[in-house]
Parts: sequence; C-alpha cells; structure tokens
Amino acid sequence: MIPGELDYGALAARLLRPDRPRRAEALTAVGGRTDPAAAWAALVGEGLIPRGWAVGDGRGFASPCNACGGGSAERVMFCESCRGRAWVVLPYPPTVSACVALAAGAEGVAWAEALARAAVHELSPWGCPTPAQLVWQVGEGAVPGPEVLGVGTIMAALASTGVVASMDAEDEGDRAARAVLGDQAFEGASRRHQLANYCYAAALWRAACATGARVHVAEGLDTDLVSPAVVSRLYAEIPDPFAPLLGVWSLGYALDDVTADALLLVAPEA
Ligand SMILES: [Zn+2]
Repeated sequence: MIPGELDYGALAARLLRPDRPRRAEALTAVGGRTDPAAAWAALVGEGLIPRGWAVGDGRGFASPCNACGGGSAERVMFCESCRGRAWVVLPYPPTVSACVALAAGAEGVAWAEALARAAVHELSPWGCPTPAQLVWQVGEGAVPGPEVLGVGTIMAALASTGVVASMDAEDEGDRAARAVLGDQAFEGASRRHQLANYCYAAALWRAACATGARVHVAEGLDTDLVSPAVVSRLYAEIPDPFAPLLGVWSLGYALDDVTADALLLVAPEA
C-alpha cells in the first residue's frame, strides 16, 4: 500500500522494475533445464515459489497463441484458439526465463496479486468485473491493455461532479501525469502512459476526497456501470481504488487488463 502522499516520481522510477532478490538462487534451481514445466517444478521443489502456485489455484500464465502467433490485430481478433486475446493460458510460465523472472521475486509477485485483487474489488462498484482467475504475462505484449474497467467510469463521475473542471484538481492531475511522463507528450499508448493516466485519475480522486465531493452521476453517463451503493456518497468514504492499483505498479508490476474471465498482470522479463 502507498501511505500518505503519493510520490508519482517514485512510481515512475519503479515502472516494470520489480525487486528480484532471489534471482541467483532461481537460476541455480533451474540449472540447465530447457523445459519450462520441469523448471517450474524444480523451483517449487526448492521452495522458491509457493507450492500452491504449481497446482493452478486460480493462477495461470500467458503463452503466445500458436494459432495466430499473437500477430496482427486483425488475425488475433478472429482467432478461435485464443478468442482474440493473442495468448492462451498454461499452468506454468511458457519459458524457463519467465519461470526465473517470477520465482526471483516471488514475494513481490504475491503482493502484486493481492493488491490487484484489492484494486479490482474497489473498482467493482464502478463496473469492473471481479474474475476468479489471475493470469501472469512475462514480458510486454505488443500493446498495453486498455484502461482497466471502472477507471473511465470514475473519471466520468468525477467530471459530472465538477471535480475535473476545477482548476486546482486538474493542476494536481497534470502534475501527477507529468511526474511520470517527464518530457514525453501526454498522448500515447505506452505502459508509461498507462501509469500516467492512473496517476492523473488518482490525483483527481484525492482532490474529490479533500474537497468533500460526493458521487454524482449526470444524465447521459453510463449509469448502469455505477453501483447505487456509491451514488451520493462522499468520495472520502469510499475505498480508494487507486491505492491498491498504484500499489501493483509500485512493486514493479502492472495490472494490464481485467475481463470477465481473468485479471491480467504483467511482469518484465528476467
Ligand atoms: Zn490466437
């Protein structure tokens, strides 16, 4: 969790840079193995990853889809093997180096999972699904996933509350995004832009809390997405979904996407 003030610059510095204190041990444990299933079993055997991770207790690992190769967007879209996701789910990471990447920082991986589940839970009143399955992808896909469902709804609700229009709040949001982007343009589709977008939203949420704003859902907004449980309540009384969401990023991982089927987390290569 991120206590007190959010340090957006520090978050940017951790962008996909997790701690991997047990990398040497993990490399020793896999030895010369080339089969990822055998490497994963060896890491379990050495206690580098929790035993439960080997039995697929709601956790899977993304492997590029063989049928479409995760290729062009159009090929992926109509692929029946992966149902347009570009990847399929295996019970172990798809390469030996992906096994090492996760085992080397297993404690952080477990924290990231817990925070991602908390974020999804806090985003659920705003239209985010809460799937049981969690999928890790090691290495970046071609394109970062879309904004996690619920964040856009929050931004729309903040706009209809007048928070987005308030200059001070917007300045806060801009400062947060700028701390992440540095000299880069605001518009973009990179992982860094995704983080900047969440930091912007987090700053506005905090502004809404600080100014005593209540959740107001204007006509024309997709009101079906907002649970009646949060309408008219003070933002300050509602659990802040951005604390756990940015917590995932502060550990050097990213919550890429949440669908009805799965919560997709990204870890960088070893
Ligand atoms: Zn496919």
